[in-house]
Amino acid sequence: MSYRADITIIGAGVVGLAIAAQVASENRGVYVLEKNETFGQEISSRHSGVIHSGIYYPEGSLKAKMCVAGNHILYELCERYGIGHRKLGKLIVAINDEEAGELQTLLERGRRNGAQDLRMLSKQEMSKVEPNVTGVAAILSPSTGIIDSHALMKYFIAKAKERGVQIVYQTKVAGIEKVADEYTVTVEDSTGEFSFATSVLVNCAGLHSDKVAELAGIDTTKAGYRLHYCKGEYFSVGRGKNTLVKRLIYPVPSARLTGLGIHVTLDLGRRMRLGPSVQYVDSIDYAVDSQHKPLFYNSVRRLLPFIEYDDLEPEMAGIRPKLQEPGGDFRDFVIRDESDKGLPGFINLIGIESPGLTATPAIAEYVGNLVARLLGR
Ligand SMILES: Cc1cc2nc3c(=O)[nH]c(=O)nc-3n(C[C@H](O)[C@H](O)[C@H](O)COP(=O)(O)OP(=O)(O)OC[C@H]3O[C@@H](n4cnc5c(N)ncnc54)[C@H](O)[C@@H]3O)c2cc1C
Repeated sequence: MSYRADITIIGAGVVGLAIAAQVASENRGVYVLEKNETFGQEISSRHSGVIHSGIYYPEGSLKAKMCVAGNHILYELCERYGIGHRKLGKLIVAINDEEAGELQTLLERGRRNGAQDLRMLSKQEMSKVEPNVTGVAAILSPSTGIIDSHALMKYFIAKAKERGVQIVYQTKVAGIEKVADEYTVTVEDSTGEFSFATSVLVNCAGLHSDKVAELAGIDTTKAGYRLHYCKGEYFSVGRGKNTLVKRLIYPVPSARLTGLGIHVTLDLGRRMRLGPSVQYVDSIDYAVDSQHKPLFYNSVRRLLPFIEYDDLEPEMAGIRPKLQEPGGDFRDFVIRDESDKGLPGFINLIGIESPGLTATPAIAEYVGNLVARLLGR
């Protein structure tokens, strides 16, 4: 075996790339292995692109802490390096008194999580800021925004490469074996198969991260790492309706937090879309079923009465890598070194669903600290 790496990162999505930029340094050999032709072809290009403020997640969870921290870091990065973004703000709108009661709980949770700028708006206050939205009350989150995630990934790639990281595409990790105090990684590329050794191995394989954990011998059912695919479809809203709201508009989410509810997002080109829906599926398939249009229409017309059925067109879909089973309870991100499973230096990131994009810089810092401890430098 002729190749040796200090740190190998599996997956060139936003998370793997941010970690590469974080852990790179002159005296470390760092590789990113990606099975696709280029970076960010899976979850990281099929999402809402929202910089969340950290309202929803249980207090003390990694999702809550990393979302709030990531929100601040992302805006700083965007400002400093000219990454496309807009701090539009967002409303979570209650359509009846029962939902208004839930808003209060959400507001308090968000503030405890560190989203200090949240404000409760009365019906009149809401009508002033968003005259075309219907509801009885709303939470205003001024620090929610949108980001050009492709530009963010390009920024992480540039930073990683500047510090010597090699990103290798069309290279799929097919085997992981612990040998003495390092890992033998077997990869498949267009020329066949080859193996190399690495001291630290970071699994950022998104939808396939449970399979990668299995390659290292982890029983994913026992460890609670089995992923469930949960599809989110989007419908675009045409016919000039995109000018009728200024902010992102969300409903009050379901108690189990499977998704945040079909909401209205705007992208940097001010295109408006509705989504994502929540549908557990068995396989990865990005087709949008046009028969789901009534579901989208009925979900949003209570908040946005100006949207008409014919405004909607199927747009795109993404798949969430969920640890939470259908009907199950909230699950946090798994981000850990697997020393207690006899695999020191093997770092798993599993279940990095929303708010994974927002949390990315905070995840990278966290993993950077794990790596520094493992390598003793
Ligand atoms: C519908 C939807 C909406 C979302 N909206 C938001 C949002 O508005 N705000 C937010 O903060 N977050 C959002 N998220 C979450 C966010 O998009 C993800 O958390 C983030 O993109 C995950 O990035 P990743 O790098 O972990 O995964 P990915 O981008 O999927 O990257 C994993 C990479 O690993 C590679 N890989 C897998 N197996 C192997 C292997 N064996 N060998 C080599 N390479 C391999 C894959 O090819 C892939 O490129 C959303 C997610 C979805 C699905």
